[in-house]
Amino acid sequence: MPTRFAPSPTGHLHLGHAFSAITAWNISQKTDKKFILRIEDIDLQRCKVEYEKQIFDDLEWLGLTWEKPVIRQKNRFNSYREAIDILGNKNLIYPCSCTRKDINEALSAPQNNKIPKIYTGACRNRSMSEAKKTDNIRINIDKSINYLKKLNHKSLVFVDDYYQQNLINIPFESQHLQEDIIVARKEIGTSYHLSVVVDDAFQDITHVVRGADLFSSTPIQRLLQELLELPQPLYHHHRLILDEDGKRLAKREASTALSILRESGVKPIELKRSLDLIN
Ligand code: GLU
Repeated sequence: MPTRFAPSPTGHLHLGHAFSAITAWNISQKTDKKFILRIEDIDLQRCKVEYEKQIFDDLEWLGLTWEKPVIRQKNRFNSYREAIDILGNKNLIYPCSCTRKDINEALSAPQNNKIPKIYTGACRNRSMSEAKKTDNIRINIDKSINYLKKLNHKSLVFVDDYYQQNLINIPFESQHLQEDIIVARKEIGTSYHLSVVVDDAFQDITHVVRGADLFSSTPIQRLLQELLELPQPLYHHHRLILDEDGKRLAKREASTALSILRESGVKPIELKRSLDLIN
């Protein structure tokens, strides 16, 4: 069961990342021992080589080993373009020139007392043949759901083996499937959701292990998998490691950074014990 750890080199890895990487590694070791490290560096502005180097050093320190060569998303923009073309050929996407400001203004206008969607669909009727370099590409969520309904899908489902209730049903009316999200940003031609599903399939990942904070990303990723006819992995959204105040750990916080713990002489075994990963 190939599993993966897919960090973005935008800051220091922290205890939560260690928990995620070790959990994925442990699952892989029970089967085919294939643990894949993928560098998610599509955000060319924020990703830094020094953080990437730290990722390798941190994981090595934790005693993890991974498949080679390591894939970096910044080298895979052609594959993301191909996926965009597939969605385009199915007529499920459109170019959008709305700025953040346009969207915020649209948000503040009352719409028959309904909770406004974040994006109101001002560019929805535009076609891909008129797409410009300065446009983002959005998915037309209604057309996409209709496309699946025609293929006899009644809802989207996924299996999450972290939860007692193993089969998670996502009705098409789910709040996570209401917005025409951006699938390709103008500067890079892709997005987090699109790159993740393309690469999970490309790398034959059968078990997506990640924190519960990404649970709400799974509906849209399952939708993209169906539209792109990609295989469906099994999921494991594990508990989050929180700070003393019960808040999620942040990459900018030094006290839980693995590189700092490593340099201050903490032993990996102590760290694993503190995370309840061994007795
Ligand atoms: N790159 C994402 C992050 O660092 C994780 C992606 C995923 O596990 O799906 O938060």
